[in-house]
Formats: sequence, structure tokens, C-alpha cells
Amino acid sequence: MQAFYADHFVLPLPEGHRFPMQKYRLLRGRLVAELPEVVLCEAPRATDGELALAHDPAYVEAVQTGSLSPAAQREIGFPWSEAMAERSRRSVGATVAASRLAFSDGIAANLAGGTHHAGVAQGGGFCVFNDLAVAARLMQAEWFRRARRALQVLVIDLDVHQGNGTAAIFRDDPTVFTLSLHGEKNFPFRKVPGDLDVDLPDGCSDDAYLQALELALQEVEHRFDPGFVLYLAGADPHEGDRLGRLKLSHDGLEARDRRVFSWAFERGLPLAFAMGGGYGHDLQTTVQAQFNTYRVAAQFHARWQNRRR
Ligand SMILES: [Zn+2]
Repeated sequence: MQAFYADHFVLPLPEGHRFPMQKYRLLRGRLVAELPEVVLCEAPRATDGELALAHDPAYVEAVQTGSLSPAAQREIGFPWSEAMAERSRRSVGATVAASRLAFSDGIAANLAGGTHHAGVAQGGGFCVFNDLAVAARLMQAEWFRRARRALQVLVIDLDVHQGNGTAAIFRDDPTVFTLSLHGEKNFPFRKVPGDLDVDLPDGCSDDAYLQALELALQEVEHRFDPGFVLYLAGADPHEGDRLGRLKLSHDGLEARDRRVFSWAFERGLPLAFAMGGGYGHDLQTTVQAQFNTYRVAAQFHARWQNRRR
């Protein structure tokens, strides 16, 4: 299975900044050491034209040239730098590359991304550009060129925070269905309604979560007919997360991932996934959760290859 990374484009953060940037490098290290079936590739950069599929060109330009206002930078949560702009483009490029590959390989990944708080003309909550939205629109355009019919895209957002940016971008777009399961009391405090939002109470544990996921997938089944799935496999619903407020165990998160991958696999739907949030009290917990997602994904990749033979 191929996965795209951009963690070597280092985004400089001030001392004591609360974003755990090193988790990406740690995850890549563990994949190299312990999961050789995951082939790691450098992420390409998303072009202006690709970004403009989901973002206002003036916003793309402001990120590129460093003319974001101090308030816009505060909203994002990262100070602007050339490296920040480059890293953000690469992270979108990684989800785009993984999405393209999913159509031939069944499943592929971005080692970062899942920046679902970014909207059309602004970032937020550590998100600059919305990789899921750009990839969805670009896959639709490329699919239409080849197949002469529309591609419907399902976004399954299981990060613990609601995907407000993705919901806003696709608000009036019936060709993209946004599903989000998230903590009701968590950021963003003003949520933007998506196509299906499931609010979970503080302390929600494995069984209740998996049941909610099952019901949500059943409802999607009735309401939408996707040709492609984008999955945001956030590690922040884990019980050891600083920001998550939910209580999923590693086993629960693994069952969640397995359910999503098998749901797509059973329906023959290509799937690309991104990592999203993870802010473990102990960062190794976050990295372990993400590593587990890759372990399960690699099993499904093998099943896709067997199916093709
Ligand atoms: Zn999150």
C-alpha cells in the first residue's frame, strides 16, 4: 500500500506550541521499521488550480505570499512562514495523490492531512487548506473526463472534532456527502451542519461509538450512492487524548477503522484516508493509534490485490 508524506517540510513553531508536529515523523519512522508493506512516497505539491477547486484564489494567494492578517493566522493556529505555505500545499498534494492511486489500488493514504476545519476562504484549528475537499473535487473532475459521468464522493470524518470546513465547502453540493461523528461539546463550538452529523456525549466509549457508526453507515446507505470514499481516521477520539473528551480504546479505534475499510471494500469503493487530529497526553499513544490504522489498511490493500487477480 502506498502512503504519501510531507513531514520533512518542517513547519517552524514557536517554543512550547501545543501542536504535536513530531507525531508525523514518529509515525513515518514506525512504518519504515515495522510495516514494510507500506511504501512511502514524497507528497507532490498541490497547484494553484487544484487548490482553487475548493478555495477562494485570494485566500490561496494570501497563504502563498504571507499576507494573511494576524487574526487569520491566529484562527489557523500556526504563524505564517514560507515553510508553512509549502507544507500546507504538500499535505493537500498527499491526499490528492493517495486519492488517484486508490482508483487503481483500492486503498492509499496520506500520513498527515485531514485538515477539515479549513473553509473556502479561511483556515482554522491547525488547518490551512482542506485536503479532503480539494481531492474530492479533483477526483470528480478527472473521473468525469474519463467516464463522462459524475462521481459521487462520500467523506467519512471520524476525527473527534466536527468537519465544519468540509461541511461549509460542500453545503449546497449534492454530489459530495459529508458524514461526521464528533464530540458534541468539542471544538468547533459553532458547527456547520453537514449531510449527517452525529453528536457524541463526553466520555463515549467503544460500544456506543461503534453502534453510532453502524447506524450512520446504514443511513448513508439509504441516502447516497458513492463512487469514492475519503476517510478521516482521526486518532483524537482515543481515551488518552488531551483534547478529545471521548473514551475509545485502541481496540475500539481499530474496530472503527476495520468497519470503515470493510464497508468500502464490500461495496468495491476505492478509499483514500488521511490522519487528522491526535493530541495524546503521551504522544506515543497517538502514534500507536495511527500506526494501527495503517496495519488494518495494509490488510485491506492485500485483499484488494487478491480480488484483482
Ligand atoms: Zn480533531
